[in-house]
Amino acid sequence: TPAPATGEKRVLLAAPRGYCAGVDRAVVTVEKALELYGPPVYVRKEIVHNKHVVRTLERRGAIFVQETDEVPEGARVIFSAHGVSPAVHAEAAALQLQTIDATCPLVTKVHREAIRFASEDYTILLVGHTGHEEVEGTAGEAPENTIVVEDPAHAAAVEVPDPGRLAWLSQTTLSVDETMQTVAVLRERFPHLQDPPSDDICYATQNRQVAVKQMAADCDLMIVVGSQNSSNSKRLVEVALEYGSRDGHLVDYADEIDEAWLAGVSTVGVTSGASVPEVLVRDVLDWLEERGYADVQAVTAAQESLLFALPTELRRDLKAAG
Ligand code: SF4
Repeated sequence: TPAPATGEKRVLLAAPRGYCAGVDRAVVTVEKALELYGPPVYVRKEIVHNKHVVRTLERRGAIFVQETDEVPEGARVIFSAHGVSPAVHAEAAALQLQTIDATCPLVTKVHREAIRFASEDYTILLVGHTGHEEVEGTAGEAPENTIVVEDPAHAAAVEVPDPGRLAWLSQTTLSVDETMQTVAVLRERFPHLQDPPSDDICYATQNRQVAVKQMAADCDLMIVVGSQNSSNSKRLVEVALEYGSRDGHLVDYADEIDEAWLAGVSTVGVTSGASVPEVLVRDVLDWLEERGYADVQAVTAAQESLLFALPTELRRDLKAAG
């Protein structure tokens, strides 16, 4: 994109942005479950890490709980896109809950890799953020065999039982660059480290970061629409700053944008995390337009067409209902 004349205001709008296939599937799962079974439908944890999505579904009759034991015995519960450990499935079975598993298939893939490595007695170095639901779920597949590694500094210090039998896996929503640095540190220390069979950082996370990298150096300010607990959204702000945007902020809603951020700004970059509905991006674009940033140019890094089928349990009931 050619640089604008001095003082000229424009917006660079990243593509892809917003919903990924896993989020779309998870949100549609809750919507269809509400239509089919009627409220209330319980959801363990936020179905996806977005405030607006959770509030909207709550208004329609979804009840979000933190833990399985908050769901009344025999009721219906949906597991979120981030995945759950086998212990959670067992708790649900003990309470005779009717479960619908909206775990993203790309997270399930990482669970399978963890199960396989653990069955071959590997220690799994799981690169990810301690306390994130996805990490809890994946680590829960083989708790005795898994060590969470946060970042390169942690990789430099982590102790392992057998350096000859090690594999690494990762959370799906990390910074690609930082993960590669973490793995480089691990490989330097443990040359026998096994790679995952395929990339764990998912296509959506990667594509959104590539788009931000392409435009960051041209931006005075990057606005990322997303929630504070959304890992992939937070990474987009970090990537923007690292690749040359002068300033960058994460906002849930347009009204969280501070007018002061616009001082001296000619180019504003806009993108959104994988859990963010497009309507929230539209609101940000409207907000910017009202302040003279009416020229919107797309920066397209990739085309996405992936779609996932709804969870089997739900498809079965939808079919039965005709
Ligand atoms: Fe699945 Fe990636 Fe979306 Fe997470 S960000 S739900 S792993 S597609």
